Amino acid sequence: MRWARPASEFHRVTNSMLYDTSNIFAKIIRGEIPAVKVLEDERCIAFMDIMPWSDGHTLVIPKVQAMGLFDAPPDALAALIKQTQIVARAVNAAFQPDGLRLVQNNSPGAGQTVFHLHFHIVPCYNDVPLRLGNAVMANLAVLQEHAQRIRNALT
Ligand code: 5GP
Repeated sequence: MRWARPASEFHRVTNSMLYDTSNIFAKIIRGEIPAVKVLEDERCIAFMDIMPWSDGHTLVIPKVQAMGLFDAPPDALAALIKQTQIVARAVNAAFQPDGLRLVQNNSPGAGQTVFHLHFHIVPCYNDVPLRLGNAVMANLAVLQEHAQRIRNALT
């Protein structure tokens, strides 16, 4: 049965694609490109999305090589959702949105563009449409200020 394959294969294959170690989030994990980080531990990193759908849009990624939900080791998923809850609470406290959406895309058909597992933490504000499909590159100083607000709200 598909779900019974050895754990050693879980991080290798999703929809016939192989994990590409040169993807942009793998480079952030290795410190090869910068990110505006809000929280990092030995298992996960949370950082500001460079093209935010709304103010406070934050991404959380595990440090394991997984493309998405299907190939992620369960213990990495557990660590990821725990850090996502911590960061989401801080985003909520910092930005006080009207709601907060959690998004996790699997495969291009669902809109995935970076093939390393990630949760989007997306604050939603009444009367401010999400910039879905029309997001633009954020100003770095603004992203840094938003990240600082989230860090300040981490408990
Ligand atoms: P996906 O479409 O795969 O669910 O989401 C990928 C997200 O990664 C997008 O929202 C996009 O703006 C963000 N992103 C792409 N490249 C970078 C980058 O180099 N740095 C950061 N911080 N975010 C990125």
